[in-house]
Amino acid sequence: MDERTLKDVASIIKEAKYCMAFTGAGVSVESGIPPFRGENSLWTRYDPTILDLKYFQQYPEESWPVIREIFYDFFGKARPNKAHEVLARMEQAGMLGCVVTQNIDNLHQEAGSKVVHEFHGNSQQLVCMHCGFRQGAAEADLKVLPLRCAHCGGLVKPDFIFFGERIPEKAYADSLEAARKADVCLIMGSTGEVMPAALIPQEARRNGAVVIEINPEDSLFTRDVTHIHLTGKAGEVMAALEPLLFDA
Ligand code: NAD
Repeated sequence: MDERTLKDVASIIKEAKYCMAFTGAGVSVESGIPPFRGENSLWTRYDPTILDLKYFQQYPEESWPVIREIFYDFFGKARPNKAHEVLARMEQAGMLGCVVTQNIDNLHQEAGSKVVHEFHGNSQQLVCMHCGFRQGAAEADLKVLPLRCAHCGGLVKPDFIFFGERIPEKAYADSLEAARKADVCLIMGSTGEVMPAALIPQEARRNGAVVIEINPEDSLFTRDVTHIHLTGKAGEVMAALEPLLFDA
């Protein structure tokens, strides 16, 4: 990573009126959670059909054990990494307005971020598909599957969006509002392939934001949306940026 570029990025962030972050699966890779696409990704190991809404409703006894294995036995053990931590510190210092995340792993909140717009929901909450009763996944007994609502016996699902579901309205509206007021947008660890989430950085760019991308690879944003690409892992780049943001 070029020190000069890192210094420029730190100055751009410090001078911003409203900086937002847009994060994808890549930001949690250094916490041990694999992304959905590419080498060693989740979909090379599991069949994504289990997260299809209609399939889940029809065959919950097949979907639920796999969901438990991926999102609770496995995700549940992950801890925030340096990228989550520096973003939380930036918010605390008034340098970051919000995080718009495609992730469902709750790691931004665990690192201390307060304003997090969860574009795809959160695996740590469960919702009854019949009566809407919500509860924390930590309080639920996941031994007997499929999970049934304690109040009405309805099928319970994790409160993140499955294939075939709409984006939560408030998260979508809040993310668009942030994109329209941001003068700096930090994209971290996203391919830009998932719609409509990918519209958020595009909207920020269209409204004049300086777009900084952190990703070891090029993404669909890199050519037309990104102004400055920091080629590297989110945790490593944020560790290098941290002293330039806070000590200089
Ligand atoms: P993706 O899986 O399509 O792509 C991940 C991106 O992260 C790639 O561009 C890759 O080059 C980059 N990357 C890999 N390692 C990185 C690192 N250490 N630092 C920075 N970048 C790194 O991810 P996506 O675009 O976010 O879309 C996938 C969808 O899957 C999302 O909508 C999300 O809801 C979901 N998902 C979430 C989680 C999670 O909650 N942690 C994990 C997997 C998938």
